[in-house]
Amino acid sequence: MAGKVWRSTVLQALRALKNEILQSRSFMKTVCLIPGDGIGPEISTAVMKIFETAKAPIKWEEINVTPLQGPGGRWVIPQEAKESMHKNKIGLKGPLKTPIGTDHPCMNLLLGKTFGLYANVRPCVSIEGYKTAYTDVNLVTIRENTEGKYSGIEHVIVDGVVQSIKLITEQASQRIAEFAFEYAKSNQRSSVTAVHKANIMRMSDGLFLRKCREAAEKHRDIKFTEMFLDTVCLHMVQDPTQFDVLVMPNLYGDILSDLCAGLIGGLAVTPSGNIGAEGVAIFESVHGTAPDIAGKDLANPTALLLSAVMMLRHMALHGHANKIETACFDTIRDKKVLTKDLGGNSKCSEFTEAICQKVQDMD
Ligand code: ATP
Repeated sequence: MAGKVWRSTVLQALRALKNEILQSRSFMKTVCLIPGDGIGPEISTAVMKIFETAKAPIKWEEINVTPLQGPGGRWVIPQEAKESMHKNKIGLKGPLKTPIGTDHPCMNLLLGKTFGLYANVRPCVSIEGYKTAYTDVNLVTIRENTEGKYSGIEHVIVDGVVQSIKLITEQASQRIAEFAFEYAKSNQRSSVTAVHKANIMRMSDGLFLRKCREAAEKHRDIKFTEMFLDTVCLHMVQDPTQFDVLVMPNLYGDILSDLCAGLIGGLAVTPSGNIGAEGVAIFESVHGTAPDIAGKDLANPTALLLSAVMMLRHMALHGHANKIETACFDTIRDKKVLTKDLGGNSKCSEFTEAICQKVQDMD
C-alpha cells in the first residue's frame, strides 16, 4: 500500500515537472534584440529588467546589424543577423547611429528593405499625468515604408539639376491600405483617414488614394475619410481628437508621425513598430541616440518600453503587455520618480526600478 502511494506521488511530481518544462519551452519566445548606439544599451537594459520582473516569456538574442559592404560596394546586413531575424521573426531595436558619409546607408531604410517591413505603425496616445498641450489624443499613424519619395531613386540630369523620383505602386498602396483597415478592425478602432495630395500629384497620390477607396469598399464597418495632407496638419493642431487611424505614403508619414508624437510629449514617449509579411516585425524607439546624455543614466526608456509592449501585443501576449503598460503609466501618473525629460530628477535606473515595483505590486 505504502509503495503504491509513494509511486503515485513520484509519478505526480514527475508529471508536474514535465508539464512545467513543456510549458516553459512552448511559452518562451525568442526575440532579436538590437540594443543600438548612444543611450540604446541603457534603455534596452531597462526594458529587459522590467520584462524579467513581469515574467514576460521572452528570451533575448542580441544581434549585430552593423552593415558590411558586399560585392559591388553594396551595403548589407550581416548574414548572422539576417538568419536570426528569419528564425525569430520579431525584433526590438534601440536607436542606431547612421555614420555620416555619402555612401553609408540609412540603417532604418536598410533594415526595412532587408526584412520587407512595409508598414510603420505609431500609436500616439496621451499619457495621463504627463502634461502636454493636448490631454486626450488617441490616434495611430500608418506609414507606407517602402517607396514614395524614399525609394532612393535620384540622379543628376545636367549640372545643377537633380531629379528625385516618387515611386508609387498599385501593389504597395493596396497592401498598406488593406493593412490600415485590418489594423483598425483588430484594434477596435472605428475610422481610417487616407492622407494625400492627389489634387496636385494626381497620378501618384491618385493611385494611392484609389487603393484606399477600394479597401474602404471591402471594409464598410470602418468609417473612411480622405483628407489633403495640409488640411490634416491644420486640423491636427486644432483638434487632434477627431482623428483615429491615418494611412499615408512614406514622406507624409515621416513628417506627420513626428508631429503627432509631439502632441503627446515627444519621441521619448512614443512607441513604434515596423511590420512586414508573415508576422515579421521590428519594434523600435524612434528617438535618436541622444549622444549628449549617453552613458549618464539619464535616458528615458519609455519609448522603447512601450514599443516592447506593442511587440507583446503583436505576439498575442496581451496579459503581459497590459501589466507592463499599466506599470509604466502608473509610474508617470504618480510623478514621484520621473526622468529629467519627463519633469523629474530621477535616473533611468531609478525610473526603471519604480516601474518594476509597480509590476510586483500587481502580482
Ligand atoms: P541622433 O544623431 O542619433 O539623431 P540627436 O541628439 O541629434 O541624436 P535625438 O537623439 O533625438 O537627436 O535627441 C534630441 C534631444 O532629445 C537630445 O537633447 C536628447 O538628449 C533628447 N532625447 C532623445 N531621446 C531621449 C530619451 N529617450 N530620453 C531622454 N532624452 C532624450
